[in-house]
Amino acid sequence: MPRVALITGGTRGIGLAVSRKLRSDGYAVAVLYNNGAAEAGLCEAELGAITLKCDVGDFGQCEAAVTEIERRLGPIDILVNNAGITRDASLHKMTPDQWNEVLRVNLTGVFNMSRQVIGGMRDRRFGRIVSISSINGQKGQVGQTNYCAAKAGIIGFTKALALENAAKGVTINAIAPGYIDTAMVSAVPPDVMQSIKTSIPVGRLGQPEEIARCVSFLVAEDAGFITGATLSANGGQYMIG
Ligand code: NDP
Repeated sequence: MPRVALITGGTRGIGLAVSRKLRSDGYAVAVLYNNGAAEAGLCEAELGAITLKCDVGDFGQCEAAVTEIERRLGPIDILVNNAGITRDASLHKMTPDQWNEVLRVNLTGVFNMSRQVIGGMRDRRFGRIVSISSINGQKGQVGQTNYCAAKAGIIGFTKALALENAAKGVTINAIAPGYIDTAMVSAVPPDVMQSIKTSIPVGRLGQPEEIARCVSFLVAEDAGFITGATLSANGGQYMIG
């Protein structure tokens, strides 16, 4: 039986590239989406993946989705916490709703999903959890106190959960992408985007497939010695030790 991988927000952008890559790696793939029913239909047709509507910010919906996927495919071996949103504003203009929604989806969503699967992974002595953080959680970004706090929070969460499960065959890692060519980035104004591009040493945006490659590496059977790590994939834009 192939191992089972669950990807949140896996029907478009980086998540879709991850879904495609893990499917081609031979995993059974299940995908959660929130608003994009049309994309979910396409993803299901292309990959033969199970797709379920689930708001990762809602603990009860996450619980129900995981129960349904495990009923249909068996235990989840790999969780990729990819779902994320932005609600940018300088802090002096940021509303409580903008703050709360970004923390709810980007950080509480990682708790809500990881909490559903971690017990089973520990019991079975195998598991892989990879969460998509961001370069902006590492270095900060104007207009994104909410997003940077959530993405930095993922890195701390990853380290703590890695320690809790290091002896159980379960690895927990994060990926910190730089600017990747998806709908999230096309929302950035053109003048800002031009200055971002010139600040990337490789001279271009990353492609979603380049992040999927990182996920594929970290979830592999023989990646068991890598845990608590944050893998940067940012075209040389920000290098930390
Ligand atoms: P997109 O905006 O293209 O896609 C976001 C995905 O998240 C969609 O599949 C969306 O589902 C899903 N999603 C949003 N809210 C929820 C929710 N409440 N519950 C479940 N799913 C939800 O983003 P990207 O592909 O660009 O980004 C993917 C991840 O990578 C995010 O976490 C992002 O923060 C991170 N990242 C992106 C970078 C970039 O440059 N693009 C850089 C660094 C990090 P649906 O369409 O169904 O609503």
